[in-house]
Amino acid sequence: STPVVAVSALTLCAQRGVLVKGSAHLERLGRVERIFMDKTGTLTRGSFALTSIRLVRAPRNGGDAHRPALGVGSLLRWLCALESRSSHPLANTILRGAGAAVRVAAERCTVDDFETIDGQGARATVDGKCVEVGNGDFAAERDWDESDVELTKTAKRWEKEGGTVLWVGVDGILAGVVRCDDVIRPTAAKAVADLRKMGATPEMITGDNPGAAAFVREQVGLDATRVRASLKPQDKLTIIGEAIKELENKTSKLEMRVFGRGTVAMVGDGINDAPALTAADVGVAMGVAGAAAAMETADVALMTNDLNRVVELIALGKTCVRKIR
Ligand code: ADP
Ligand code: MG
Repeated sequence: STPVVAVSALTLCAQRGVLVKGSAHLERLGRVERIFMDKTGTLTRGSFALTSIRLVRAPRNGGDAHRPALGVGSLLRWLCALESRSSHPLANTILRGAGAAVRVAAERCTVDDFETIDGQGARATVDGKCVEVGNGDFAAERDWDESDVELTKTAKRWEKEGGTVLWVGVDGILAGVVRCDDVIRPTAAKAVADLRKMGATPEMITGDNPGAAAFVREQVGLDATRVRASLKPQDKLTIIGEAIKELENKTSKLEMRVFGRGTVAMVGDGINDAPALTAADVGVAMGVAGAAAAMETADVALMTNDLNRVVELIALGKTCVRKIR
């Protein structure tokens, strides 16, 4: 049966806009040693703005016949048509940033075979053309980073500056790059500092590029050794699994029986975080704009986007652990 302290704690949580799916999760949060956070949508708002576009230059001397001299209008129209099928936060950014006229034109495009590609990007057939968009790894796998030296230089610079770069290809050939900039949550730095004070190690795992990751890391005050970038959903899952193994190995049998081991928590918002949220001892989903899959898989769902709620939950968890014993 659930102890009275725990029941009143869960009620308290509900009043604060936090859904905890059972008191055991609260106790596990009270024993958290490592807390992994997703970047986009968790430490940042996940509400990007489209800030720049560069197109692949058309061949100067009529050389390469395979390269379409694609205009910015066509690129944005096809990209919008593709992103209109995606639920990724960046899809919305593109649609907003492209403007109403392009959106209307994109609606007239025929879109078939939309698919999301392993947390790295998306593709679809738009008006009979294969349109693809994705991150740097996605581009490198297709050798797009070798097709226009100047463009690649620009993209690398954008990443260093903290931008998220989307590489866009049409029929297998790089057409251009798009830069989007996110905003760090104002509450993130304080939450990171507080987590540390409570004895938990804050860490970041992200599918975004290392440059954007480093930018956020500095702003919120994470250790460089506690940040991993360019991860696929499966990689996030593996990292959580390894962290749990490590904690299991360092806990003696006696300690385990008397206190239980230190735990691993994961905080995320996206479909790409769902496997990691399931694997963690406690999975916490950021609720407001988060993906339904993340909310369903998580043990705890925040109805607000305030990371300090997580800090409060851990404090509450610690109280529960003490009172129940
Ligand atoms: P995070 O782990 O930080 O939440 P994601 O795993 O959601 O990031 O995304 C990783 C990267 O994959 C994005 O930064 C983006 O470059 C690319 N990406 C994924 N889906 C899309 C999409 N629909 N449109 C554009 N880019 C995408
Ligand atoms: Mg995310």
